[in-house]
Amino acid sequence: MNNETGTLYVVATPIGNLKDIGQRGLDVLGRVSLILAEDTRHAGILLSHYSIATSTRSFHEHNEQDQVNGMIKRLESGQDIALISDAGTPLISDPGYRLVFEAVSHGIPISPIPGPCAITAALSVSGLPTDRFCFEGFLPAKPHGREQRLLELDRETRTLVFYESSHRILDCVEAIGANLGEDRKLSVGREITKRFETFYYGHPQAILEQLNGDPVNQKGEFVVIVSGATFGGDADFAKATHLLGQLIDHMPLKKASEIAAEILDCNRNQLYKAGLAMKKERE
Ligand code: SAM
Repeated sequence: MNNETGTLYVVATPIGNLKDIGQRGLDVLGRVSLILAEDTRHAGILLSHYSIATSTRSFHEHNEQDQVNGMIKRLESGQDIALISDAGTPLISDPGYRLVFEAVSHGIPISPIPGPCAITAALSVSGLPTDRFCFEGFLPAKPHGREQRLLELDRETRTLVFYESSHRILDCVEAIGANLGEDRKLSVGREITKRFETFYYGHPQAILEQLNGDPVNQKGEFVVIVSGATFGGDADFAKATHLLGQLIDHMPLKKASEIAAEILDCNRNQLYKAGLAMKKERE
């Protein structure tokens, strides 16, 4: 009987082009006792391309919880397991968190096999600062939730990174323009590493024009990168709110927010919301 604990390998797989996987990843996938895959049929394309015959088991967000205990036991009995997702790096907007959490808690060795990730691929060609960035995953699907999330990010000075699907790419870019400002610089990566790989660069309006130029441009998978806020930050916002407090006694809130935003280089929508709260307090 094997008394040594097995290793959980978290293996990155291609985000489109099947050639984007390293030798180490292939070796690991070939020698583990089981591959946990988000979609076993999808994994089959990669595995058969590289003639890897290891058995696979479906492991996705709906069955992850049920599978974790069994997988921990398997690892504790000495078997090595690999975790892959449909594309890119597992756990990055993909299943696996509970398994890795439990593996860490049980002291099971975990080893990453790094490789493609849509975030880094898109950032590397964005032309925007990459020294500090903030990955936000998918924006909420509903307009109100999307607006709220963007307003929370309005004063974030790091470069922002979002994932987006073809269904919502137009709404996403529109909402970024409306809530973060039309002066933000964007880089939108579409179908990275795939046949129709395209990158769109420019301010939100310019990106919308490119996406609307042909319905085909809205097809596929997207990463949206947005330049961070450039204004002075919290101190300026505090000054702008103070100014707004004085202006709203003399003019409509909309006008007052515009003036305060212009003078102190702050977000008009956010100031408008602060003004609404102020008015409510004064009632
Ligand atoms: N784990 C993956 C990774 O490492 O990038 C991400 C999985 S997440 C469920 C899928 C989203 O990632 C897509 O909706 C899209 O926003 C982005 N994505 C994945 N592959 C992409 C590609 N080839 N081109 C552009 N975006 C991609």
